[in-house]
Amino acid sequence: MPLGPTFLRRAFALPAFVISLASLLAPSEPRAEGRCAEAPVEVSGAAPAELDMLCAAARDALRLLGACRIDASRAIRVETEPRVTHPFGRDVIAYYDSRRDVVRVTHVADAAALVADTPYRVLAPEDFYRSMVVHEIVHAVMAQRAKRMPTSASAQEYPAYALQIASLPEGARARLLETLHSEQDARSAHFNDIVLAFDPFYFATRAYAHFTAPGSGCARLHALLSGDADFIATLP
Ligand SMILES: [Zn+2]
Repeated sequence: MPLGPTFLRRAFALPAFVISLASLLAPSEPRAEGRCAEAPVEVSGAAPAELDMLCAAARDALRLLGACRIDASRAIRVETEPRVTHPFGRDVIAYYDSRRDVVRVTHVADAAALVADTPYRVLAPEDFYRSMVVHEIVHAVMAQRAKRMPTSASAQEYPAYALQIASLPEGARARLLETLHSEQDARSAHFNDIVLAFDPFYFATRAYAHFTAPGSGCARLHALLSGDADFIATLP
């Protein structure tokens, strides 16, 4: 989940965003449980409209990973809840709970306030919500397939952010990258836990630029799965 100090400094237009998201989920809608039709994903606690969105996001994540020959080894569990709290104490839109091996996702109507104060506010709410689910599904599959779990947060976040941004519709991605003033020289990318902690948005755009640069991409993901992430700085 991309949270950091910059979260608290951004201006935003919350009302329209809240209305837009809230319209996707009427309070009285029944909750649905089920397995996604085209993805090995089991969802609980979702409204029907959310279920479709979660399954579509899961398909996006698995398609992107599948393009790198990384497939889920078992079903991925997704739980939707009114409130998802990260172990660090922040409320987040989504979070992969590695101890329970579950992707926990906030109901779409409850997600608005968590994104409004970030650069992601330039995205359509549905696009951002979906991309966050992609991010957490990537965490879940990488955890399934890792021969050795990465010891740094940046090694865990690189694939999640890179594929989250890759999953966005082209126009939305361009708008986000423009907003974030992404630089295009991926060769000088720095991936370490300090950059991640202080500017997760910068880290995300660098991860995407690095992942999509020639010679990077899938090879980097496989290096991470093998525990051989020499492109990510290990700090003392
Ligand atoms: Zn993450």
